Amino acid sequence: MNSTKKCTCGFDINHPKIITKTNYSSFGWFLFTILGLSAKPYRIDYYCSECEEKIHSTYEPKILKKNVGR
Ligand SMILES: [Zn+2]
Repeated sequence: MNSTKKCTCGFDINHPKIITKTNYSSFGWFLFTILGLSAKPYRIDYYCSECEEKIHSTYEPKILKKNVGR
């Protein structure tokens, strides 16, 4: 995992300006949206809220678990 990557503004993954976007499979989306259950995302992307550059994405189960239901 390359956590030192920075966006054009120079923000890294730990910077408050970096926002996460969770991606759900269509089945996970269905559970979460229609049934209101917590679905685990399959991927999380990290975007800069300033320049909207994507600096990182992760499939790590440990991190995905922390973002359940977001
Ligand atoms: Zn940026």
